[in-house]
Amino acid sequence: MARPRNALNARPVSSATPRAARARPRADSATFGSTDCLLHLKPGRDKSLRQHHPWVFSGAIATVDGNPGVGDTVTIVGSDGAFLCHAAYSPGSQIRARAWSFDARESIAADFFARRVQTAIARRAPMLDAAHTGCRIIHGEADGLPGVIADRYDDVVVLQLSAAGAERWRDCIVQAIATLAHPRCIYERSDAEVRTLEGLPLRNGVLFGRVPETVTLLEDGLCYRIDIEAGQKTGFFLDQRDNRAAVRAIAHDRTVLNMFCYTGGFTLSALAGGARDVLSVDSSADALARARDNLARNPGLPQERAQWREADAFTELRRLRDAGATFDLIVLDPPKFAPTAHHVDRAARAYKDINLLALKMLRVDGLLATFSCSGGVDTLLFRKIIAGAASDARADAVVERQFTASADHPVVLSFPEGEYLKGLLLRRTA
Ligand code: SAH
Repeated sequence: MARPRNALNARPVSSATPRAARARPRADSATFGSTDCLLHLKPGRDKSLRQHHPWVFSGAIATVDGNPGVGDTVTIVGSDGAFLCHAAYSPGSQIRARAWSFDARESIAADFFARRVQTAIARRAPMLDAAHTGCRIIHGEADGLPGVIADRYDDVVVLQLSAAGAERWRDCIVQAIATLAHPRCIYERSDAEVRTLEGLPLRNGVLFGRVPETVTLLEDGLCYRIDIEAGQKTGFFLDQRDNRAAVRAIAHDRTVLNMFCYTGGFTLSALAGGARDVLSVDSSADALARARDNLARNPGLPQERAQWREADAFTELRRLRDAGATFDLIVLDPPKFAPTAHHVDRAARAYKDINLLALKMLRVDGLLATFSCSGGVDTLLFRKIIAGAASDARADAVVERQFTASADHPVVLSFPEGEYLKGLLLRRTA
């Protein structure tokens, strides 16, 4: 089971003698089975793990027994020596360990990953049918696999590994997906910047099978071509599936503005819902080309009702406002303005700006579907920002609906950090 450790990444054993541990009966690794290294937490730092929050921050660790390498499995114990979890060790990251299992008897080996992958896939079975040929099949912490993301697009799976533990068990995870999901191809998109925080290299490429010439996805009966090799994230924003369906359901006869349209998900959904016309804006020429191509792939949609514009959203919203444009439905689904809490102030200003401009152009009785996928901006703060924008725009509005990520991106109750996507459907009332 053990792979050779990467000597470059091996971390020296903590030089501090575990004073607290000496005073108590020492937990030893044999007691817990699967690992040979123990991480002792500082007194009073075990609460979140007892509540099954899956992360251990570096500041919570008192001592490390043994010499765990990058991604090795360690056993975390409280200052009293009591078992808390088996976890993956990330010596280079502030998130020093991520829990694999809160069950002391569970051994972290190939069959553990096979079980977790199987459970994750089985949970998604109801989400796949003739009109939906893809969804997220593994969603990190929510599936007990921190650092592992797997998105299915028809018979192709795109895998993203973003933490040292996930990297350490890469072969087992790939094997489990290949055996249990029966894809034609597994493609790795481990190119997210977060990997650098873990000291991991960025990597893309085929892990299993061969990439088909065209990778497509049917969502709500609409066909999209997915660029798994160079598209954003794993190629498509599957997390917006339910929200695209919601927009489809309210689009009838409306004049629509879709800002940050990427490959046209909300555009096609609005057209399928009977929108009168849709103006779609994105700063990426490549995304717009793919969006146009996606529309063309759905000949049943009224092609002539779509207009595309390559522009910066902040500039284009002002230009439209100055030109006196108005809309009955506006979708704002910007990129992550605040990846972490440090960026919140600047992000709040950006969210306020685009929402203020959008609300000004929204006709009375018009609808605004507005989103944030910033982990640093929580649901309450987002609502406050939007309320501020409405007030400054002198628009009265009601919240008709709150959006979250679709059910294939579940949120663990004890891990609120997982709730990154939030949104509101507002109706302008005056
Ligand atoms: N709504 C899309 C996903 C949006 S992703 C969907 O359902 O698939 C965010 C998009 O914003 C990306 O396509 C990116 O190119 C675009 N973008 C980023 N910054 C932008 C800016 N300043 N102006 C316009 N588009 C921008």
